Amino acid sequence: MKNRSPWLYQLDQARVSKTLPGDLAADVAIIGAGIAGTATAYFTLKYTDKRVVVLERFKMAHGATGHNAGQVTSYFERGFASLAEEFGLDMAARGQRAVEDAWALLDEMYTDAGLDIPFSRFEGHAGFTSETQVLLHLKNNHRRQEAGLPLERMRISETAAFLSAIPAEYKGLYEVVPHQKVLALLESEAPEYVAALSYQKGCINSALLCQEVFAYLLKTYPDRLALYEHAPVHKLILRDADALLDAGTHTVTADRVVLCTNGFEDFTIINEHGLEVNGRFHAGLSGHIGYMSGYLEKLNKPPVAISYFPQSGASAGEVYFYLTRRPYEYEAHPGHNLISIGGPEAALPERGAYSYEQEFPEEYVQAIDDFLRKTYDSDPNKKIEYIFTWHGLMGYTKNGVRMVGPEPQNPVLLYNLGCNGIGILPSACGGRIIARHLAGEKVEPSIFDVPKKG
Ligand SMILES: Cc1cc2nc3c(=O)[nH]c(=O)nc-3n(C[C@H](O)[C@H](O)[C@H](O)COP(=O)(O)OP(=O)(O)OC[C@H]3O[C@@H](n4cnc5c(N)ncnc54)[C@H](O)[C@@H]3O)c2cc1C
Repeated sequence: MKNRSPWLYQLDQARVSKTLPGDLAADVAIIGAGIAGTATAYFTLKYTDKRVVVLERFKMAHGATGHNAGQVTSYFERGFASLAEEFGLDMAARGQRAVEDAWALLDEMYTDAGLDIPFSRFEGHAGFTSETQVLLHLKNNHRRQEAGLPLERMRISETAAFLSAIPAEYKGLYEVVPHQKVLALLESEAPEYVAALSYQKGCINSALLCQEVFAYLLKTYPDRLALYEHAPVHKLILRDADALLDAGTHTVTADRVVLCTNGFEDFTIINEHGLEVNGRFHAGLSGHIGYMSGYLEKLNKPPVAISYFPQSGASAGEVYFYLTRRPYEYEAHPGHNLISIGGPEAALPERGAYSYEQEFPEEYVQAIDDFLRKTYDSDPNKKIEYIFTWHGLMGYTKNGVRMVGPEPQNPVLLYNLGCNGIGILPSACGGRIIARHLAGEKVEPSIFDVPKKG
């Protein structure tokens, strides 16, 4: 099956891209025009007076941003308790708050640009099947409480076999409810789900957001912004006060360069002013391909986002499924909900070995369908036609936290990357942090800082 994304389908197919007209110079070069590059350009233009050039290897928003689940969610791929263990409670809490505050940053972009694209907000849920999962999330909640963060709402079925084994210190962090209540929140009849965790979530087409925000930025800052597509950067030469970028046919010189490339695309970094960066950078990131399917149904239910943890382990590294339902316009027929489901992932064996052109393996269509039939849409007589099947690439940092800020070996280079599977809010948060660095502000240390050692 083809890689066919519902988000790219909604983009303006007639939009004309500009290619690099010749060698040029700018204050800031942003490499990559996904949600990270868009947010970085937006906040840099708004909060500094810098001239910005954005260089995109292919087409704006056609990377992970155009192939994701489009859930707006503030959690990390690892729990808050483990962040607190690595960074200390205060710093972890500041990091968590920064991502939660990124809701306001998305709103700022959305409002400034005068957008009217669908952006739904609601209470989303995660469903658990085991004691280990529930205890892990209660531990996270306990640490959130100590840090003064808002709590996630945990509801546990009165039928859960492990109720009496929940440590007393977690009292007050969960409610015991009828099993039916848990299943109703999860919109499932699968009896193995015995707990539901609820928190604010949303959904948006992040590719459409990029398209619309760039249209606004290009109109608002015609003298300070240029976006060039089909402009792959092959080599970055970092000098003591600026950088030279080899973009194939032409070169770009910039005082600062921000990598918003998600991770591991093929380019070389040569640092003429300090220690080697290239190997360290590439060794710090690995790739995972995420697979998703989507189908349409009547627009008769509100938007929702639900994650399901069908196996018995804790969340970190476990296979889970995530489902969103949202209004979606398709062809000439209005009034649909799009149900999209993801879960299967494959590690990328080597850097650069991924292409968006790759076929979508049948086995993953089947795995998603099996999950769906068992958990969400279990009517055996219903024919489900997956009109979209798509995959995208996620760049994982070693510690699962987005990398934002200057490269310690040479601050001419900055990063806003490492999507780790959840990147919409973290990209916006990263874009605001980068703009503060570029404005010359003193930025306090954070969990997003680029590690000094590889
Ligand atoms: C299947 C899947 C599901 C996901 N679900 C969610 C979700 O529900 N919620 C959520 O928050 N996040 C989700 N994510 C993650 C989210 O999509 C990403 O974190 C986010 O889109 C990353 O944005 P980005 O701009 O960093 O990367 P990208 O969108 O990948 O953009 C990077 C851009 O850099 C360009 N580029 C790379 N190298 C070069 C080069 N050398 N020269 C020029 N340009 C270059 C690429 O072409 C690309 O356009 C999901 C990801 C996947 C794959």
